[in-house]
Amino acid sequence: MQRAAPQEFDRVLSSMCTRPHPAARKAAERFFATNPGDPATYQAVAALEEDALSYLGEITGLSAPHGYVTSGGTEANIQAIRAARNHARDGDPNVVAPESIHFSFQKAADVLDVELRIVPVDDGYRANVAAVREAVDDHTVLVAGVAGTTEFGRVDPIPELTAVAHDAGALMHVDAAWGGFILPFTDHEWSFAHAPVDSMTIDPHKYGQAVVPAGGLLFRDKSVVDSLAVDTPYLESASQASLTGTRSGAGVASAAAAMRELWPDGYRDVYERQQANADWLYDELRARGYDAVEPELPLVAASVPDGQFESLRDLGWRISRTASGELRIVCMPHVSRESLRAFLSDLDDLRSG
Ligand code: PLP
Repeated sequence: MQRAAPQEFDRVLSSMCTRPHPAARKAAERFFATNPGDPATYQAVAALEEDALSYLGEITGLSAPHGYVTSGGTEANIQAIRAARNHARDGDPNVVAPESIHFSFQKAADVLDVELRIVPVDDGYRANVAAVREAVDDHTVLVAGVAGTTEFGRVDPIPELTAVAHDAGALMHVDAAWGGFILPFTDHEWSFAHAPVDSMTIDPHKYGQAVVPAGGLLFRDKSVVDSLAVDTPYLESASQASLTGTRSGAGVASAAAAMRELWPDGYRDVYERQQANADWLYDELRARGYDAVEPELPLVAASVPDGQFESLRDLGWRISRTASGELRIVCMPHVSRESLRAFLSDLDDLRSG
């Protein structure tokens, strides 16, 4: 029988997943048959989840974090909205978010039957604070901002958005699913330490180098996360706040292992290397006459003609485009300068051919 090859990352340039750290892989193998959804029965992995939460708290500036390791950013965003809705217990809830928000918000609004009010971004691809202020009302339960947008790697003005949310009596959520392991090494104001943010998504299975599935959801206030809990009569544990029931112990253990290994110096090294790669790639693309968006974080977007884009895909490059059509290259930990050089060399051949 023909077996599929395991994922090779050399030509993967647009994914937000990456090759897991060896320590994360090893931890995942040890814990793949455990279920952190039932912490009273699976106590060893439950203790590792506590470790993972404290690391996530340290990374995001929250000294007493509440929350859990989710299946990914989608579950974390759905749960942040669900918690805000349950906490408010409002009749007709809405959520206000910039158009740069990840599509998981649309899924969340759909399953939770919450109105999603999408507002425009400014010329720099960041949430427009005035537009957010205009959109909130007495029924707004949550304002969301992104710290490291999926398409352009931009950071919304989190302190300003938090002020707008709180003035409206709503909670503030930051989606740092991708940016959370990069931003501590930058000057951006994005975290619990920079503003009284209420909840945050930060995914170990992206820049954190854990195995899939390992997302992160953090809350400042215990009563908000408690609004997610349901009783669990047949388990040894009495209640559960997660969206999924049985969860991946492999993801949890690998997240704790990756952060133990890499926080902070390992993550800083990767950020510095990948920011340098992104800056270099931006210069190279501009030197070839492409219109490119200056990278603020390690993500480069550039307008590349359809024909060239498709030919690069045919050559095996795993690349994707933004909603407005730009090629996007995400300099994840596995992306090497050598691989970017090979990519540009293929692009040069296509241009001259
Ligand atoms: N939020 C942001 C900013 C993302 O970039 C992504 C995925 O790329 C998600 C949420 C969704 O994460 P996941 O695919 O782990 O559910």
